[in-house]
Amino acid sequence: MEKWPIGVFASIDAGLGVKLEVVEELGIPTIHLHAPHQNTRTPKVAEKFVAKLNEIGVKISVVFGGFEGESYADIPTVIKTVGLVPPETRAERTQEMKEIADFARLLGVDIVALHLGFVPHDENDPMYSDIVAVTREVCDHCRSNDQRLHLETGQETADALLQFIAAVGRDNLFINFDPANMVLYGSGQPIEALRKVGRFVRSVHCKDARWAANPGKEWGAEVPVGQGDVNFERFLATLKEIGYDGPLTIEREIPQDPTRQKAEISQAVKVLTDLKKKLGIS
Ligand code: MG
Repeated sequence: MEKWPIGVFASIDAGLGVKLEVVEELGIPTIHLHAPHQNTRTPKVAEKFVAKLNEIGVKISVVFGGFEGESYADIPTVIKTVGLVPPETRAERTQEMKEIADFARLLGVDIVALHLGFVPHDENDPMYSDIVAVTREVCDHCRSNDQRLHLETGQETADALLQFIAAVGRDNLFINFDPANMVLYGSGQPIEALRKVGRFVRSVHCKDARWAANPGKEWGAEVPVGQGDVNFERFLATLKEIGYDGPLTIEREIPQDPTRQKAEISQAVKVLTDLKKKLGIS
């Protein structure tokens, strides 16, 4: 397979990714798949989906978990609703994440990923050890499926993420690096962060964003790849530097406008293809 094949975040029936028809139309060879709703995570759906992917020559590299009730409306809402952090839903979502890993196995996929949520920054916060414990539980379940677990970056600084990974202490725990999230959440310069956590980065999202006026307090703005503050030339050059060799998976979360979404993804493919050429990667 070519180095750094260009991919896109896609979905079957849940999540914000593009439909498979768009993937096919744009001739994209690899996807991250948002896990479908609980009632469609069946062997039959998996089998049909795999057959369809084989027919159009598309591979899934990562299955992303997501949960009912999550909202990315603003930073306080993310803290309250996203991932395995909110205590009220933690047990059931941990269980569901294992089911998502099992569904990924049915699809023949050996990487599952998720937004863990806002892990407390203070290691002495009792919630910190609770979240370490559920992350171990999910890692161990993934291990029994011969899978790795990738944590989506964004909510925490590179140092906090490294500290968290060390605290979990599982060798199948890695990172899905999303440079735009660092900007959106105001959690650090993405290129610097990528260098720090590089040895754990096994998948990436190509997404761009502009810094908020008050980073960390309010959201930055997601924009098309190449138009934000990430600096994609430096991002790809740094991926090369750290020896990254997976796909470049485009994420563009504007499902409310599918025509614009498709056009911007197509433009992102061009931006990334040109940069790969410039960096001597093909
Ligand atoms: Mg992402």
